[in-house]
Amino acid sequence: MKKQFAIIGLGNFGFYLATALFQKGHEILGIDINAKQVQEIRDQISRAVIADATDPQALKELELGKMDAVVICIGSILNNSILATLNVKDLGVKRVVAKAVSDPHGRILRKIGADEIYFPEKDLALTAAQRLDNPNVLDYLPFIEGYSIVQLAPPNSFIGKNLIELDLINRFGVQVIAIKELVPENVIMIPTGRFVVKHSDILVILGPDEALAELQEEPE
Ligand code: ADP
Repeated sequence: MKKQFAIIGLGNFGFYLATALFQKGHEILGIDINAKQVQEIRDQISRAVIADATDPQALKELELGKMDAVVICIGSILNNSILATLNVKDLGVKRVVAKAVSDPHGRILRKIGADEIYFPEKDLALTAAQRLDNPNVLDYLPFIEGYSIVQLAPPNSFIGKNLIELDLINRFGVQVIAIKELVPENVIMIPTGRFVVKHSDILVILGPDEALAELQEEPE
């Protein structure tokens, strides 16, 4: 199913993300304040524009509200990352994803409403450590075409309920395989049905791509 994504910030991370999603058949709008970055990616995605994401008016004109998701890939200039995320959130975009370069950065993005946060450096370092430590570990995921693992900030309707009550297996056909607790930082692999979901948790969920997409569209 073809989706529409906007990628804000076409540095290393944004560039690879935008071109990889385009190659998977999605419609990609790339946005960067720097003309050089826009020029570089122009022929490799659907549309690339120069705009300052800290300017709400500039973003408004790009009709981001109709996107399936907007990903903010600004890392090095914290101020811009925060303002861009806030602006995108204010436009009512249904799925706002943001890249963070540090834990405090991630906490701020979460507080201003980012639905998902990527920590590319940290996550890659942890994956690399795992591979170096145990080269036999199956090289995880996605292991079967059409299935993925996603990290989900729980919508409000999930908070205070345990996994049995949420019954995601029967309602969506997906399985919670881990919980990342942020306060204090902790990972629970294969949580039991008695686990009660908190606001500060991240659910790590395995399932068919369509079911995961449906789950991510659950109202907050
Ligand atoms: P990476 O490490 O992935 O290269 P950077 O943080 O270095 O990430 O790159 C961020 C990209 O975001 C750069 O191309 C930069 O021009 C762009 N950028 C920074 N501020 C803004 C902004 N206000 N609006 C749009 N794009 C921006």
